[in-house]
Amino acid sequence: MKAPIRSHAAHLIAPAARQRFRRRLLEWYRRHGRDLPWRQTSDPYHILVSEVMLQQTQVDRVLPKYREWLDKYPTLHALASAPEQDVRETWRPLGYNIRPQRLHAIARESVARYGGALPSDEATLRSFKGIGEYTAGAVLSFAFGQRAAILDTNVARVLFRVFVGRGNPKGHAMKRHLWSISRTVLPRRHVFDFNQALMDFGATVCVARKPKCLVCPMSSACAAYPFNPEGEA
Ligand code: SF4
Repeated sequence: MKAPIRSHAAHLIAPAARQRFRRRLLEWYRRHGRDLPWRQTSDPYHILVSEVMLQQTQVDRVLPKYREWLDKYPTLHALASAPEQDVRETWRPLGYNIRPQRLHAIARESVARYGGALPSDEATLRSFKGIGEYTAGAVLSFAFGQRAAILDTNVARVLFRVFVGRGNPKGHAMKRHLWSISRTVLPRRHVFDFNQALMDFGATVCVARKPKCLVCPMSSACAAYPFNPEGEA
């Protein structure tokens, strides 16, 4: 019989362990974090564009398209007034074509209801079709500086390995648990850097296959160390 997943990460991760994780992650990020254009802005729309592009596409393919898109549609107003065909064509060659439609719809709704701005509270943000829990957390923390947690595939993998280590990383209950961990380890300050660091660490060190455990700053406190490639995807 499967052991139940215990939730309430706040009770499971001691304050000292949270501090250690934050400190090591931020130290790592200051040395090794990538210099990406969406880390130089707090414009909510620009953050949203980067997050939607990064949902299904690697960073190196997103970079030129992000610049091209913002040259062409620098504001939600500009995107909202663009013809649909133009928006679809500008998105190419990025795949998964529901994404430009969603961005376009968000732009039109923001102009119609919020004066061409994105709201800064979670409930209103999530009322937009195409802005889910993760994207809302990214916009709130990166654009509005709020203490909002994130959990994308990279972040879930890091938190699962460091704080859980065993079991099925992909079940629904585990996902809720990992959200709880993400909220628990989030610091009060440096939220922007911390969330960016989590994503970067998952994308470059604690990668899905062959994570760099031997040079990893988390290794002495990681529940999955040494990572067993047979143990999870
Ligand atoms: Fe990931 Fe390995 Fe580091 Fe653990 S020790 S966080 S599995 S890279």
